[in-house]
Parts: sequence; C-alpha cells; structure tokens
Amino acid sequence: MISTDTPPFDLIIVGGGINGAGIARDAAGRGLTVLLAEQDDLAAATSQWSTKLIHGGLRYLEHFEFRLVAESLAEREILLEEAPHLVEPLAFVLPHEPHLRPAWMIRMGLFLYDRIGGKTVLPKSFGVKLAGSRWGAGLRPQFARGFVYADARVDDARLVLENALDARARGADVRVRTRVTAARRDEGMWVVTLATSDGVTTEVRGRALVNAAGPWVKHMLDHIGAAPVNAQVRHVKGSHIVVPRVHPEEHAYILQNADKRIVFVIPYQDHYSLIGTTDVPVDDFEHPEITEDEITYLLELANTYLEKRLVRSDVVWTYSGVRPLYDDGTSDPSAITRDYVFKVDALGGAPGPGCAPVLSIFGGKITTYRKLAESALALLAPYLPAMKAEWTRTAALPGGDLPGGDRNAWYATLCARYPALPADLLRGLARRYGARAVTVLGDRTTMGDLGRDFGGGLTAREIDFVMDEEWALTADDVLWRRTKCGLPMSRAQRNAVADYCAGRALATKARQ
Ligand SMILES: Cc1cc2nc3c(=O)[nH]c(=O)nc-3n(C[C@H](O)[C@H](O)[C@H](O)COP(=O)(O)OP(=O)(O)OC[C@H]3O[C@@H](n4cnc5c(N)ncnc54)[C@H](O)[C@@H]3O)c2cc1C
Repeated sequence: MISTDTPPFDLIIVGGGINGAGIARDAAGRGLTVLLAEQDDLAAATSQWSTKLIHGGLRYLEHFEFRLVAESLAEREILLEEAPHLVEPLAFVLPHEPHLRPAWMIRMGLFLYDRIGGKTVLPKSFGVKLAGSRWGAGLRPQFARGFVYADARVDDARLVLENALDARARGADVRVRTRVTAARRDEGMWVVTLATSDGVTTEVRGRALVNAAGPWVKHMLDHIGAAPVNAQVRHVKGSHIVVPRVHPEEHAYILQNADKRIVFVIPYQDHYSLIGTTDVPVDDFEHPEITEDEITYLLELANTYLEKRLVRSDVVWTYSGVRPLYDDGTSDPSAITRDYVFKVDALGGAPGPGCAPVLSIFGGKITTYRKLAESALALLAPYLPAMKAEWTRTAALPGGDLPGGDRNAWYATLCARYPALPADLLRGLARRYGARAVTVLGDRTTMGDLGRDFGGGLTAREIDFVMDEEWALTADDVLWRRTKCGLPMSRAQRNAVADYCAGRALATKARQ
C-alpha cells in the first residue's frame, strides 16, 4: 500500500496503447516523473489491430476533415524520419470506377492530398494505365485506368513498444500487466490503486492523471472521482483478413465499394496480403472477433477487383480491433470523426499545481499519436510547471537512427557484417529493431550462436532479447506483437514457442 515517503509522480498514465506510450515518452523527455500502467501487454488492445497505415486518410477529405488530414500528413513526414525501420513509404493504386467517384473528384482530392500536409519526401500522385502495366498487377483487365498516390505503412505494435522503451530510457516507470483499479483525489493529488496480474496491490500518488485507456476511456472515467464529462465514445469494430499474396508488386490497392466504403489490399510480411477493414458498431469491445459476414464482405469486395478469385479457405489469419471514436453524433460508423478530442477535469481555481487534473483522450489515430502527445502535454503544462519544452519532432525512436535513414542500406550493412546468417532472418531483424539489430545479434555470427530455431524467422536469442529487454512474457507477446513470426508458423511451432516462453518466465520468477 501507499507510503507517504514515496515521492509522487508528476504524471500517471492509464493505458499502454499508442497514445499512452507516446505521452509517456514525451513527458519523460521533458523531465517529468512518469508512471505508465498497462493492464495487459503494451499494444495489446486497439493499437495492434490497425490497418498499419501512417496516412492522411484520403477518404477523410470527403468528410471535410481537413485539419485531421493536414496534421496526419505532416506527422507522416516526421515518422518516416524518426522510425525509418518501422515506417515505410508505400504506393497506393486506386482503380478508377467512374460510377462511384468521377475522375475530376479524385484528381481534386489527390491534388489537395499531395499538398495539404506541407513538404513531403514522398512522390506526388499521378494517373496510370492499369491494364497490361505493373500498376494493375493482379487486377481484372476491365480496370483500365487508375491513380497512384503515396502514403506509408507501419509496424503498429512495435511503434507502441519503442515509445515505451524510449520513455523508460528517459526515466519513466513502465508497468505492464498492471491495472488501474481505482483513483481518487486527496489533498490536491491523485491517489491511484494499481493491481498486478499476480494479485499485488499498491497505491501511488500523482500530480496529474492521463486517461489513455482507449476503448475503456469512459469506463475509466466513470470509476474515478472526477466530474462527469460531456463526451461519449463510440465503439466501432474493424476487421481484417490475411491471404497469400495476391500480386508480386510492392504497391497496395485502395478499392471502392458500391456502399462508398473503401477497403485496402496491402502487401504484408512478404508472402501475404492484408485486406481490410470493416466498420461495425459494437457493445462488447473487450473481445472483438471477425464474423463470417465480415469475411464474406471483404472477400466479395476484393473479388470484384482481383483476377484470381479468393475463397474462404485462402484466409490464413484474421484480426479485429475496436476503434474508440469520439461520438460526434454521426450515425454512419464510417463517417464518425477519426479526429481526437481531449476532456480535462481539474479541481477548481486557476489552473496550477495542486489542481489534480485528469485528461481523457477520445478517438485518435496511430498516425497522429506524437502530435496528440504534444497537444495533451500543452493542456497539462499549467498544472505541471516543471515541464520542459517540446522535443519529439526531431528525435529518433529507439533503433530509428539508421545511417542516412535508409532501411535498405542498413539491411545491406547487416548482411555484410553477418554473412553466415540467412538474409531473411537479417531482414526481419532490420525491420523490427532497426539499428538495435546489432544489440540483438552482438557477436553471434552463425545460426548455431542464436540457439534454437523455432521457424518463421524466430530464434531463441530473439525470444530471450524481447523477454529481457522489451517486457515480453507470453507467446502472444512474442509471436504477434514484438514480432509477427507467428504468421508463417505451424501450430506445433507456435506451441514450441509457448513452452519456451513459459519455461523461461518460470525460471526468471524462481530467481526473483
Ligand atoms: C480496425 C482499425 C484500423 C485502424 N487503422 C488505422 C491505421 O491504419 N492508421 C492509423 O493511424 N490508425 C488506425 N486505427 C486507429 C488506431 O488504431 C487507434 O486510434 C489507436 O490505436 C488507439 O490507441 P489508444 O492508445 O488510444 O488505445 P489502445 O491501443 O486500445 O490502448 C489503450 C490501452 O489501455 C489499457 N487499459 C484500459 N483500461 C486500463 C486500466 N484500468 N488500467 C491499465 N490499463 C488499461 C488497455 O489494455 C489498452 O492497452 C485503426 C483502428 C482500428 C480499430
């Protein structure tokens, strides 16, 4: 329980998704003392189930979300620079369907999209012939023309993780598998109850509280001693399917459906295509699962465009996440704003120390997390006068300091340095860890040095690394969040990883 000798934290953050981790990193770098509590693993909720795009959101222009698109595109530039190993440029091809959206409208939208975010390192959009060209790879020949524009993709779960790693490196206390079960104000401070998954309960004090609980944001607010806020969250499920790669080229497709929704088909993990997403309002946001109707919807839409018909048995993996959207009163789930909204509640009087503010986050995108963190801290600054100036705009994330910011050149460097290791394994490590790949490998130059080979590009050495350095504990943490090595593995291979993780976790516990 609480000891009054323990100094209070400046900031206690509930939730280790992208927004909580991003705020923890920013705040720790500004000299604040920070505690981040995540009830599960980092990125275990919405932040690992995204479409994995760092994008402005071309379709948001149709909903006049110009502020969000401009901010997202500007953030895309920053993230391409700060995390070149995790954030990668990606070309998108939009097959033209005149009865759905006229060419003039698409040209106008793309003209704006190329410019609204300011300067970009990515190429501008252009029109293309699809039939018979590489831009139409895998499509039915009837799609004769289209448009190409640039955006980026990301490893969403690792982006969260690397923000948490940087937060820890800057002094933050990051506690995973630690649930905030209660919070109350006492003498101008927050007193927060934390319960670990082992059943240990403690209390900590904090000058300010951030409620970055994602889908649980309202639930959290309803269970702490704060004034009721005038905001609701809309839970909208989005699901994806993964199928064997539908074309060999590097670009993604953005496909228009007759219902005006769009669906992406994105090259994924070398051998697969990721197809999504859907928009389904849900009440149960804790355990989202794809339905057969969603699978059929995604397959049918893809099959409208693809030359080689996809069938149910092509689906090798599916996942679903729940968007915690700010309820702006719109009935169409696809049209609800994807922008973020803050609600701050503090004790009365002029904003200042001793007001015990709580800032709650509604909505948001992976893409805008860095700017969201800056804006959140700007709102909390009057309450935390020790806070230093903004700094994250030009600071690389862990592993992001690649020579020349060039991930391909870095991969070539790794191949030259570790010539006896398989190229696929090195590419996986370069993508996941960037410059930190050499920390994972050290002076281990052969497969024998890396311990057991579990398949899927995963070795015992990498599991040890993520369990020792990156808070991984279970097979799910390792196979689906720290890496995506679970995807090509057989069930038996995944079980072997689970046994290894369990054995290692037990041994660590016994030593403590
Ligand atoms: C299908 C889908 C596709 C998307 N695609 C994109 C995309 O391509 N690009 C993009 O930019 N954005 C995308 N998004 C949006 C983006 O994923 C979300 O906006 C973002 O991940 C939300 O992050 P968060 O940190 O707010 O929430 P979360 O990631 O859900 O994190 C909240 C965390 O709080 C924890 N928590 C809750 N209660 C407690 C408690 N009491 N104690 C401790 N911890 C607690 C939870 O366990 C959770 O880990 C997509 C979203 C979905 C669902």
